[in-house]
Amino acid sequence: MLTGFGCDAMEVRRGTMSRKEKGMNITNEKKLAKHAAELGKSADAKAFSQLAELVVSASPLVRRLAASAIGKLAGIAPAGPAVEVLHPLLRDEHPQVRQYSAKALGAFGADAKAVLPDLRDLYSNPVERDYVKRSVLAAGKLIRSAVDIAERQAIHCCQRCGVKLEPDEYVRSHKAFQRSFCNYCFDEVFLERRNFETKVQLQKNIRAKDGTWVQSDGERMICDILEAEKIHYRYDERFRILDGYAIRPDFYLPEFDVYIEYWGMDTADYKIGMLKKQQLYQQQGKRLISLYPDDKPRMCKILVEKLGKYR
Ligand SMILES: [Zn+2]
Repeated sequence: MLTGFGCDAMEVRRGTMSRKEKGMNITNEKKLAKHAAELGKSADAKAFSQLAELVVSASPLVRRLAASAIGKLAGIAPAGPAVEVLHPLLRDEHPQVRQYSAKALGAFGADAKAVLPDLRDLYSNPVERDYVKRSVLAAGKLIRSAVDIAERQAIHCCQRCGVKLEPDEYVRSHKAFQRSFCNYCFDEVFLERRNFETKVQLQKNIRAKDGTWVQSDGERMICDILEAEKIHYRYDERFRILDGYAIRPDFYLPEFDVYIEYWGMDTADYKIGMLKKQQLYQQQGKRLISLYPDDKPRMCKILVEKLGKYR
């Protein structure tokens, strides 16, 4: 029963199609084609709904001219629906319809981003006509460059408070830690990190040779090297105010007026704090030696070399 019904439905549909095609005589086709072309020149957004009907015409000539007309309404007609109507025409059985719909899609620039994969498929199709491929390539380039421009001009928001970022804020926070923070949140995150660090101060449970309690193996190594080199140092002694920020240096070497920071962690928040701190040292003209876990195998050589610059 169901199968029979399906077949009947199919027959009815085919019948409709053929009646429609039969019904479209040459005069009517020319009339519709002319109408489509005129709608394209109308510069009227309302023309779009009529064109959306014409792109499904049985006549390839009408479909092609309607597609082309929609392209001419780019910037006037709503881009989303226009791209939606043009997109399926890239698979039209008639090559000129594919060609004109590609051209029209190109006119919609970044709004037609979603069709890029289909344009790519058309371009790499070995049996596609060369003239279609040329239009497809040109449209793809237009869309791609419009997408690039849109991305550069995109409005970036702080991922913490949602405020719109100034271009320099975006550049700064991305340069520092590949995340979008406004200047306020940049500092806040840094302070949160400080609070976290304060808790860490209580976790000094590693003892250096000279009896100093430190919180990591890297710091212990630094203590031992300084001790062996007979360099006087203060470890994690007190806050210093740099540019309004409380900085608690890991090590301070009074004879050299040099600070040593051992950047022992690898989390994003830690890095935010690290970069902010390094920036503050630099801005204040402080001499800072940065050491990292990767330096551990050659810690002594690296530290002595870096200190050599300040002797
Ligand atoms: Zn923010």
